[in-house]
Amino acid sequence: MSKPDSSAPAPASNFVRNIVAEDLKANTHQGRVATRFPPEPNGYLHIGHAKSICLNFGIARDFGGVCHMRFDDTNPTKEDTEYVDSILDAVTWLGFGWGEHLYYASDYFEKCYEYAEFLIIKGKAYVDSLSAEDIRAYRGNLTEPGKPSPYRDRSVEENLDLFRRMRAGEFADGAHVLRAKIDMSSPNMNLRDPALYRIRHYPHWRTGNTWCIYPMYDFAHAVSDAQERITHSVCTLEFEDHRPLYDWVVETCPVPSRPRQYEFARLNLTYTMMSKRKLLDLVTEKHVDGWDDPRMPTIVGLRRRGYTAGALRLFCERIGVSKSDSLIDVSVLEDCLRDDLNEHARRGVAVIDPVRLVITNFPVDGVEVCHAPNHPQKADWGSREVPFTRELWIEREDFMAEPVKGFFRLTPGGMVRLRYAYVVKCTGFTVDADGQVTEVQAEYFPDSRSGTPGADTYKVKGNMHWLSVAHSSAVEVRNYDRLFSDANPGAADDFRTLLNPNSIAVRHDSQVENGLLQAEPGSHWQFERKGYYCVDNRDSAAGRPVFNLAVTLKDTWQKR
Ligand code: ATP
Ligand code: MG
Repeated sequence: MSKPDSSAPAPASNFVRNIVAEDLKANTHQGRVATRFPPEPNGYLHIGHAKSICLNFGIARDFGGVCHMRFDDTNPTKEDTEYVDSILDAVTWLGFGWGEHLYYASDYFEKCYEYAEFLIIKGKAYVDSLSAEDIRAYRGNLTEPGKPSPYRDRSVEENLDLFRRMRAGEFADGAHVLRAKIDMSSPNMNLRDPALYRIRHYPHWRTGNTWCIYPMYDFAHAVSDAQERITHSVCTLEFEDHRPLYDWVVETCPVPSRPRQYEFARLNLTYTMMSKRKLLDLVTEKHVDGWDDPRMPTIVGLRRRGYTAGALRLFCERIGVSKSDSLIDVSVLEDCLRDDLNEHARRGVAVIDPVRLVITNFPVDGVEVCHAPNHPQKADWGSREVPFTRELWIEREDFMAEPVKGFFRLTPGGMVRLRYAYVVKCTGFTVDADGQVTEVQAEYFPDSRSGTPGADTYKVKGNMHWLSVAHSSAVEVRNYDRLFSDANPGAADDFRTLLNPNSIAVRHDSQVENGLLQAEPGSHWQFERKGYYCVDNRDSAAGRPVFNLAVTLKDTWQKR
């Protein structure tokens, strides 16, 4: 039996899955399961959307159903095909497919219109000619009931005439709206005669100038679900109060099916903002370098940072789905990436902050070929040659001229093992005028080579990575950190004051094994003892990879 793959955990049950299972048992929807993922194409998807995608597409996958991909494109002024393409790409990349079920709310504009006339004829909708301001004032508030608009009792004929003329383009934006006639004194504000249609003289990216009236989200959404014969319409908690309106639409209009809405708690993450509007601010104000900046919580950003689809699915599985709001610690997300990449990333050696180590008793032109495994637990991944030479690179932080207590790496007179190679003893070091170490000297023990019988006789505590100067090359490395230094930036008056000034540190002097120069854009590596890195998929060129720090090997944030 093969070991379970960490990227495909067995789906845990949650309350939405339980409802679906019960409905299947009771044959509520004739044995059908149809969910949908309905983003507005007005921004890039973020990690919160991934939760909704995994839930909706995951249910379809595990219960033999379908999940429709549907764009809620009811707001022509904010939408763009750039967003449509990126959303489709993100869902595919996450590992889900919609098959032939790609839809747009605008597919149903004609249906919505037909139902709107139906409602007018039944006396359940009317054209209101109050200004937006008056409509708001008439609506009342949580403690005061609303009062009816003077236009509420217009005749069916007059309503129909006005609505048709709205469609024909006879009126300016805001001159009229079509409202459902429900209950102006309902304790639920959403039922106080909500607007169903508004006038917008603005071309739609799909329907062009066909329409100058557009259905409101709540109306179009319920109609779309019913047209597509969705069984379980799963959305986030802020729509709970809209459910009575959703039910009103599907019960009052002659729709072909009766979908049900269920709400779950949206994902909130520490050190992360999730609102599309605020993410747009980050981009337009250039606090980050675009939607796919590796510090962004967008799917494109996370992907560029080095997040794998498996890590994101694992995360969505681990956090579960519930009905109460919570704030998930971002370290849970980072741990999922570590777990995934520990399994799937090849090992390599990089010296991020290099200082020269000279092995003074090693021949000037000598080359001793050592071997490093490509994955410590996967022998079938093979190993590669790591040449040992007189001049090496080591990490600056791995040498201390005056060691602090508990420092087991290189110190004057001290011994360490150079991983996969020899034990060396530090014999001296050189500093420049500023006291900065420019070179460390050591002698190696020829009988200490890893894997030979003599190696065991050397007992050393430090085990360091290194590179041969002659067999490594400088590359650009971008060491990323959290974008915000505060745990809850979304709650602040101004998130700009909470940006972490050290969220990116770029170096051009980091050294990698020459073999890594051919690393493919988007490929993942564990740089031993340093962290997981991903080859930048935008700024890398052939033979010139740029490495992004995806996540450190251990969580260091807690200790700061
Ligand atoms: P935002 O509030 O970030 O602008 P939105 O809710 O307007 O997002 P939509 O495009 O409408 O974004 O979202 C598509 C789907 O994704 C909806 O069903 C929505 O409920 C869900 N979704 C959005 N944000 C989250 C989140 N943080 N956690 C879980 N689901 C989410
Ligand atoms: Mg929305």
